[in-house]
Amino acid sequence: MNLELVTIGTELLLGFTVDTNGAFAGKALARAGVRVVRRTSVGDEPAAIADAVRGALARTRAVLTTGGLGPTRDDMTKKVIAKLFGAPLDFDESIWNALLERYARFKRTPSESNRSQAEVPRNATVLPNRWGTAPGLWLEGQAGLVIMLPGVPLEMQKLLDHEVVPRLAARAGETVIMSSVVRTTAVAESNVAERVKVAEDEIAPLTLAYLPGLEGVDLRLTAWNLSRPEAETRLATAAMRLKLLIGDNVYGEQNDDLAALLLDRCRKAGIRVAVAESCTGGIVGQRITAVPGCSAVFVGGVIAYSNELKRDLLGVSTELLARHGAVSAEVAEAMARGAIDRFHVEAAVSVTGIAGPDGGTEEKPVGTVWFAFAIGAQIETVRAILPGTREEIRERAAQYALYGLWLRLPK
Ligand code: ATP
Ligand code: MG
Repeated sequence: MNLELVTIGTELLLGFTVDTNGAFAGKALARAGVRVVRRTSVGDEPAAIADAVRGALARTRAVLTTGGLGPTRDDMTKKVIAKLFGAPLDFDESIWNALLERYARFKRTPSESNRSQAEVPRNATVLPNRWGTAPGLWLEGQAGLVIMLPGVPLEMQKLLDHEVVPRLAARAGETVIMSSVVRTTAVAESNVAERVKVAEDEIAPLTLAYLPGLEGVDLRLTAWNLSRPEAETRLATAAMRLKLLIGDNVYGEQNDDLAALLLDRCRKAGIRVAVAESCTGGIVGQRITAVPGCSAVFVGGVIAYSNELKRDLLGVSTELLARHGAVSAEVAEAMARGAIDRFHVEAAVSVTGIAGPDGGTEEKPVGTVWFAFAIGAQIETVRAILPGTREEIRERAAQYALYGLWLRLPK
C-alpha cells in the first residue's frame, strides 16, 4: 500500500521546527507495510493545504496529514479537507464532553473556539486522543483516504501507533517494509561500494543505500513488501554477506556506538583504558563517558594541547617535540606510553593532529592526524588524513581513535 504524507505548519517552512513527524511516520508506516512515496510540507494556508492534499489524493489515493487540528485560527486542516470531500462539519457531543472533562481535570474551562475541535466531517471516523485535545480523523470517500493527526509530536506518535498503524496494517496485508543497517568506518564510500559489488545480485530484491556520515559509512538494507519472516531472513543473510566482504571495517549494526563496543571488549578482556588527546580536545573522552557504566573500564585521561602539557602531564620529551613536531608518530607514541605509565592502565589511545583551518604545511596538510594505540607493551602508530572542516576533522579523528583501539583489542 502506498501513501503520501502532508505535514502542515508554517513553522516547518520557516525552519523553526524540524519535521520530526514526517520522519517518525515514515518509520512507523514502513513497519506496517505501508510505503510513504512522497512527503510535502505546507504552511497554515487553506489554499496550500487544499492543493497539497488534492494532488496527493489524485496521485496516491491515500494521505496522512499532521498539524493544524487545534482550536486556533491558524489550524484549518479539518475545514479544508472536509470541503474537498464535500462533507459538512457536524458537532459531536461525545468529543465535546471528553474535552470538558479533560479541561475540568486541569481546572480550566474551554473557550468558545474550542468548540471547533468537536466538529467532525460527516462520515469520518474519530480517532480518540487520550494524550491531548484534538482527536485524529479518518475520512474516506470517492477521492480516497485522508487520515488527519494533530501536529504535537507526542500526540501524533501515540495516535499513529494506537489507531492508525493497526488499521492500515490490516489493509496492507501480511507484508512489511523492514530495514537493517551495517555500520562501517575508516573506509571511503567508493571503497565500500567496490568491495560490495560482487554481491549486488544476491542482495536483490533487497535494496542497498550508502549513508556516509562523520562516524563512517552506514549501509542500509531494506526489504520491501515481503512477509515478516522472509524479510528477517533475507536481511540477516545479506548483512552477513556484507560483513564478510567488507571485513574489519564493519564494527556494528543498527544503532551500535563504537565507544560502547570498545568498552565491551575492554570489559571482557579485563583491560582498563585511558586517553591522551590533543586536537580532539576531549571528544574521545566525551564519547566514552557518554556510555553508562563506563567507569568499570575507563579511568580518564588528559587534554594535552600545548607542548608544555604534553611534556609535564605525559612525559613527552622536549627534544622529541622539537625534532619531530607535535603532530608525528613519535609524539603520538610517547603520549600513549605516558598515559599507560602515569594512569596505570592496560590500554591507551592518543590523538595529535592538525584540525585547521590554519596550521597545515605541504608535508603535514590540514587533516593530518597521528594516533597511537597501546595495549600493554605493544604500541602501534597510524596516520590518517581526514577531510572536512575543523569540527568534522575532530569528530572523525575521535571515531578513528575509538576504532583503532577497538580493532586491536581481543575479540
Ligand atoms: P493542537 O491540538 O495541540 O493545537 P495541532 O494539530 O494544531 O495540535 P500544531 O499547532 O500544528 O498542532 O502544532 C503543535 C506543535 O507541534 C507545535 O509546537 C509545532 O511546532 C509542532 N509540530 C507541528 N508539526 C510538526 C512536525 N511535522 N514535526 C515536528 N513538530 C511539529
Ligand atoms: Mg500549527
